[in-house]
Amino acid sequence: MSDHKNDCIFCKIANKEIPVPFEYEDSAVAAFNDKNPQAPVHILIVPKAHMPKINDAAEKDIRLLGQMLMAAKNIAAKRKISDSGYRLIINCGRDGGQLVEHLHIHLLGGRPLGWPPG
Ligand code: AMP
Ligand code: ZN
Repeated sequence: MSDHKNDCIFCKIANKEIPVPFEYEDSAVAAFNDKNPQAPVHILIVPKAHMPKINDAAEKDIRLLGQMLMAAKNIAAKRKISDSGYRLIINCGRDGGQLVEHLHIHLLGGRPLGWPPG
């Protein structure tokens, strides 16, 4: 698996080829606003290295996956939705409704969210 897939939009954003303000950044993870927000807070947390889907995660990625979840929690606090609550979502594949093939966690909050999802 390459670190950077040339035609991948999230690789370009995460590696700053396309300038997008980051909500959060560390050595391995970046986070930015979803361009089509479904809630007052809708942020995508992505690995900087290309990984198509959560199916592709391996033992060596355990630390990275933990970093992504910690980033999500910290961004929720920064955006002041820790107490009101929020949802973290990873869509995978066709039935999961995954449209962009670069792993991402959706952080959604700022309003009550329906359950179960469609
Ligand atoms: P998914 O269906 O889980 O693959 O979600 C893909 C998400 O990426 C959608 O919520 C889109 O609105 C969002 N998205 C697609 N392209 C961009 C972009 N260039 N910048 C920010 N968000 C994007
Ligand atoms: Zn990518």
